[in-house]
Amino acid sequence: MIIILVGAPGAGKGTQSDILRERLGMLHISSGDLLRDNVKRGTELGKIATKYMVDEGSLVPDDLIIDMITHRLAMPDAESGVLLDGFPRTVPQAEALDDALDLKGKMVNAVLYIKVEDDVLINRLSGRWICKTCGHIYHEKFAPPKVPGVCDIDGGELYQRPDDTRETAVKRLVVFYNQTRPIIEYYRERGLLQEVNGDQTVEKVTQDLLDCLR
Ligand code: AMP
Repeated sequence: MIIILVGAPGAGKGTQSDILRERLGMLHISSGDLLRDNVKRGTELGKIATKYMVDEGSLVPDDLIIDMITHRLAMPDAESGVLLDGFPRTVPQAEALDDALDLKGKMVNAVLYIKVEDDVLINRLSGRWICKTCGHIYHEKFAPPKVPGVCDIDGGELYQRPDDTRETAVKRLVVFYNQTRPIIEYYRERGLLQEVNGDQTVEKVTQDLLDCLR
């Protein structure tokens, strides 16, 4: 099973992926997490990616991302099924994924689009806090931790992603509409796209996503 989660930044892809990975027992591959790991380890890819991710809020070039993801998909743990989050984000990436899967006799099975209005997205992105230890996502207004700056689950320190400022959030949304929206049509034309309203409780969004996979 190859499932793709699509949504604008702040739509809840990360939160839902964490839940779905557990509920479905699937490997979760997030292109953003892979890139942030490269940035942390100071790899060549990480150094190049930083410029796009933080300084500009724009997309990392297709060839670098396609290379990174196809390598990850070729690992043995990806054999039995993958939940893709944040990839593909452009039509060339979607085409490259189809080609890579085709070579293995596989294909994309479902594309789930988590849809949320822009004003909601901007508010969500600019108040987001993440646990350094377990990655749980909080929001200072909509889902605050019991103690500010401290994770409810494991007591870890909370941090804000450098690209979660209001200014970068707006830029990331523009990038989503210009570059990622076309993949929604790409998958709709192929009969793979299903839409879910992302402006509901986390539990309801999860339920709607699971219903799409029935
Ligand atoms: P995310 O965690 O998915 O919001 O991704 C954070 C940032 O990583 C994005 O704003 C992009 O700069 C970069 N990025 C993640 N996935 C991709 C992708 N598939 N193509 C290009 N850039 C990406």
